[in-house]
Amino acid sequence: MPKSVQIKTHLEPKGFLWFSPEYLSQKTLLVQILRKFRRMLFSVFHREYIAQSIAMNRQGECHRCGMCCKLINKCPFLGTDSQNLPFCRVYGELRPAACNNYPFDRVDSEIKQCGFKFK
Ligand code: SF4
Ligand code: SF4
Repeated sequence: MPKSVQIKTHLEPKGFLWFSPEYLSQKTLLVQILRKFRRMLFSVFHREYIAQSIAMNRQGECHRCGMCCKLINKCPFLGTDSQNLPFCRVYGELRPAACNNYPFDRVDSEIKQCGFKFK
């Protein structure tokens, strides 16, 4: 009899250092800073996890609110176009990987009005 194969349709968020996903989901400034480090380091060392998490768990789309460019501090590359919409002055190859994939999982997703949601 063939063994049943379980197909994974959901990926649980990873912690960071010794912090759990639950701890990293808090709204305090300290945890915001930890999330920023997590975002930067994951974009280099956990690219496969990021790709899987986006493919399996992320829904929705970016509606260009620009809020993710103002987390903790406003990014110096954030501009405003003629229609008063925010845009990235280094969009393309120079844009940091951490920005390209925002938000990559439920822990990373800290902006209520963001167009991306997670399962
Ligand atoms: S917060 Fe979300 S919707 Fe707003 S610009 Fe960033 S990715 Fe797009
Ligand atoms: S580099 Fe561009 S996408 Fe990244 S935070 Fe700055 S303005 Fe936003």
